[in-house]
Amino acid sequence: MENCDVLIIGGGPAGSSCAWRLREQGLDVMVMDKSEFPRDKICAGWVTPAVLDALRFDTESYAQHHVLQAITAFRTGLINGRELQTRYPSTVSYGIRRCELDDYLLKRSGARLRLGEALNSLKRSSNGWIVNDAISTPLVIGAGGHFCPVARFMGAELGASEPIIAAKEIEFEMSPAQQGICQVQGDTPELYFCQDLKGYGWCFRKGRYLNIGLGREGNAHLSEHLKTFCDFLKQRGRIPQDTPENFHGHAYLLYGHAVRKQIDDGMLLIGDAAGLAYPQSGEGIRPAVESGLMAADTTMQAEGDYSLEQLLPYTRQLVSRFGPVVAPSRGKPDFLRNILSGVLLNNKVFTRHILLDRWFLHKHQASLQVA
Ligand SMILES: Cc1cc2nc3c(=O)[nH]c(=O)nc-3n(C[C@H](O)[C@H](O)[C@H](O)COP(=O)(O)OP(=O)(O)OC[C@H]3O[C@@H](n4cnc5c(N)ncnc54)[C@H](O)[C@@H]3O)c2cc1C
Repeated sequence: MENCDVLIIGGGPAGSSCAWRLREQGLDVMVMDKSEFPRDKICAGWVTPAVLDALRFDTESYAQHHVLQAITAFRTGLINGRELQTRYPSTVSYGIRRCELDDYLLKRSGARLRLGEALNSLKRSSNGWIVNDAISTPLVIGAGGHFCPVARFMGAELGASEPIIAAKEIEFEMSPAQQGICQVQGDTPELYFCQDLKGYGWCFRKGRYLNIGLGREGNAHLSEHLKTFCDFLKQRGRIPQDTPENFHGHAYLLYGHAVRKQIDDGMLLIGDAAGLAYPQSGEGIRPAVESGLMAADTTMQAEGDYSLEQLLPYTRQLVSRFGPVVAPSRGKPDFLRNILSGVLLNNKVFTRHILLDRWFLHKHQASLQVA
């Protein structure tokens, strides 16, 4: 039987950030992930600078061996509508590849890794948990993403009645010919909203790679919306006509739209496992990283007593950071609820200050400072 102070299930941004912080404080941390790393994750791969600040990330050193696309503008509009370009004087975000970033963060965390191993069993013991009949730990942190087995263990009804965002995405390496044809610029990601405003599509270029996808409330007619979006991009000459079509799908929850239990005796959830993505943009990496750091903070303060009561500060930190959860709307999430009309998407002031600065870049919220 192996022992560790904390076992984290899932080595994505939530799990690796939490592990990194706990290791800095001297805890013996193990991360278990069902995948071998590097592994891919369905994602557009857009990170806001607050993520990198909170992780004390060295962008220069990272960029030497990984894709780190600086973003200084956005092209936005409605699908089949008018397009607007909004420029910034300096870098406001970055494009990364998840297969690279997640691997980098997990290795940097310094945690002991059990990769290629899924969580199969979770049993109570006198001093905590026995996991997979092989690991003994007083605290299990669920960071397994939307379908996290720890969330399921804590009672989440995965896939049953939760109002999800369903998304499909493809990231591929363009041939030299495709690179010449593609009109999307690396520093200017493109975001186009569905006519019913229930979701949006994106097109991000990161070096030789092109990432295209679309996310919407629920998964009804997702493929049709995606086809409309891709046809639109091709008609406008934004992407090559021979763009591959093997899109992959995934689901996740927006903060406040579905409420999962976040803590229990000897366990807590972080990142997508807890359903924390920003409701207006669907950005999930920042809340994943921040919740991982906040969970680490609560863990340190609990000093080995991981009773439900001692873990309460974590839920209070989530509310103070992401806002109170008002009555969740079951079955009908209000994605982009603040957009009153597609007309606003033609307005330069609205697009810059509300849509981009506030909802997509979260400029009003400083990065999370950890001591
Ligand atoms: C199409 C799409 C595009 C997106 N684009 C963006 C974007 O551009 N920017 C952004 O900020 N957010 C984006 N998001 C959201 C973002 O991807 C997630 O919020 C983020 O990955 C959450 O991180 P996490 O660490 O909580 O979970 P994940 O990144 O999902 O990591 C969970 C880990 O747990 C492991 N795991 C799962 N089950 C088990 C098990 N049984 N046992 C052991 N390990 C397990 C998995 O292998 C995985 O490595 C997007 C989401 C989608 C679906």
